[in-house]
Amino acid sequence: MLTETDDINYIWHPFTQMKTATKPIHIASGKGAILYDINGNPYIDAISSWWVNIHGHANEYIANKIAEQARILEHVVFAGFTHSPAQTLAKSIIENLPSHFSKVFFSDNGSTAVEVGIKMAIQFWYNQGIKNKTQIIAFENAYHGDTFGAMSVGERNVFNKPFEQHLFTVTHIPLPNKENVNKIKKQINDIASSGTVAAFIFEPLIQGAAGMLMYEATYLDELISIANENNIICIADEVMTGFGRTGKLFAINHLNQKPDIICLSKGITGGFMPLGLTVCSNKIYEPFFSDEKEKTFFHGHSYTANPLACSAANASMDLLVEESCQNQIKSITSSHLEYSDLLRFSNIVSNIRQQGTILAFDIKSFDSTSYFNSIGKDAYAYFISKGVLLRPLGNVVYIMPPYCISQQELKKVYSVITQFLAYIGKNYESQDKEIYQ
Ligand code: PMP
Repeated sequence: MLTETDDINYIWHPFTQMKTATKPIHIASGKGAILYDINGNPYIDAISSWWVNIHGHANEYIANKIAEQARILEHVVFAGFTHSPAQTLAKSIIENLPSHFSKVFFSDNGSTAVEVGIKMAIQFWYNQGIKNKTQIIAFENAYHGDTFGAMSVGERNVFNKPFEQHLFTVTHIPLPNKENVNKIKKQINDIASSGTVAAFIFEPLIQGAAGMLMYEATYLDELISIANENNIICIADEVMTGFGRTGKLFAINHLNQKPDIICLSKGITGGFMPLGLTVCSNKIYEPFFSDEKEKTFFHGHSYTANPLACSAANASMDLLVEESCQNQIKSITSSHLEYSDLLRFSNIVSNIRQQGTILAFDIKSFDSTSYFNSIGKDAYAYFISKGVLLRPLGNVVYIMPPYCISQQELKKVYSVITQFLAYIGKNYESQDKEIYQ
């Protein structure tokens, strides 16, 4: 029998200062876009539970496919063995990606998908006898996960400060825009002239954890072109943007230039099972395909290509490509657009931005825009008190709902945000009229 204190007694939660954290909400079940706590209170999950839950909670179709698979084969070592769920998934991923992608490597979360991508890129050069091509270029403010390689390519900040001396050196370049793109191109050329740059890794179109920072496909195209000219492998981290989030199946579908490697996770199983994929082109695969043992890609996790995870991903993909789901994505996109127009009337809102099913904006603040901006905590508590799960990144509020969300539920999310803006507008106005006018 569980007691009230069992959580605090036994569990250490992620990204949580356990000493000051409020008691976590005990969720008993979920259905569609709604989560229910143990007292029966509903919460609209407007962030798809850390961006994974694209078809909503407890989806019958995915649940049944996992249950079917569990009765057939739950797991098997993936070296020396294979199975149908993995083959079906790999085939469908390759068929749905641009045609130069040819091989799928399995792992079990977003960080490992990134680790694999970085290791593939470095070993790609190593296997060809180019052993000093190990340097990585990444964007300022990047977030690629919490393992050491993924932290290394990410922005240096308070999240990885204790480990700083163990992170490998990475050149961080600014996010491109009309004004700076030529300067960044020159910067890439300059760095590349040493001949030691192995790869350029980026979150295409949106830097999620950085605060939903968006940038245009056309400038990323220009940077990929320069990287290609300089023999730099391009790695698209689509852990967040993949599987319909940006309005297309993958964010790279908005680009003319294509990366060599793509990292996938989060939405891949519809939030049912942990799974990561790193997909590469034949060009990347070739130097590994050899009679020499040491050219093997020596990487693999115990749960690699877990059949239950692959079945969940196959089921999620079935749902994603259905017309009804694609129409939902379009409908969320246009609802966000309409709500953006309303948000423009608020004098405490700035930087309204949208890409497909993701809508984000900043709440103007005395403190700088950052994860630690105190507005985030107040906003979170307010939204929860109104039955909506939104987890602002500091003063950046964003909506990233499951695609199954109804118009009524979405309207409630908008309305709760509008109420919060009115509420803090009044509070802050009395403190400093200048800023909030
Ligand atoms: N890359 C990106 C772009 C992400 O947003 C995240 C997680 N937020 C990761 C990698 C890491 O994924 P995971 O949390 O599954 O390790």
